[in-house]
Amino acid sequence: ITTQKAILTPHAMAAACIFCKIIKGDIPSFKLFENERLLAFLDIQPLSLGHALVVPKHHGAKLTDIPDDSLTEILPVVKKLATAMDAENFNVLQNNGRLAHQEVDHVHFHMIPKPNQAEGLGIEWPAQ
Ligand code: ADP
Repeated sequence: ITTQKAILTPHAMAAACIFCKIIKGDIPSFKLFENERLLAFLDIQPLSLGHALVVPKHHGAKLTDIPDDSLTEILPVVKKLATAMDAENFNVLQNNGRLAHQEVDHVHFHMIPKPNQAEGLGIEWPAQ
């Protein structure tokens, strides 16, 4: 019996992180936007057509783990997605910690268009 918790280095945590694997291209995703600092891709279990996630490429579990300069670009990208999807009705959601329903420990913003708001964009959405 050991009472010691495994201690992972930041590098090991990033290596085990599913969103870091998506960012590296080791796990496929449907990418909507990418630059040197951010990636936006479709949620694999969408709550609605166009449900997207925007993540900083810098690994950090919660909002409080991310440097300000990695955060400042995220909302403009969320806005870009909402505009591109012509989403008149949408939710932006960001969960921190298990009690707040965070499942994936890499900071992410959900952009969730309401049903039918993301149709007709000229985007060939993957089958759901
Ligand atoms: P919750 O699952 O309660 O929304 P989070 O806020 O941590 O918790 O959201 C994690 C999101 O990541 C979920 O909406 C889930 O569907 C999504 N997700 C998990 N794995 C993948 C993946 N490989 N590709 C795209 N989205 C993923």
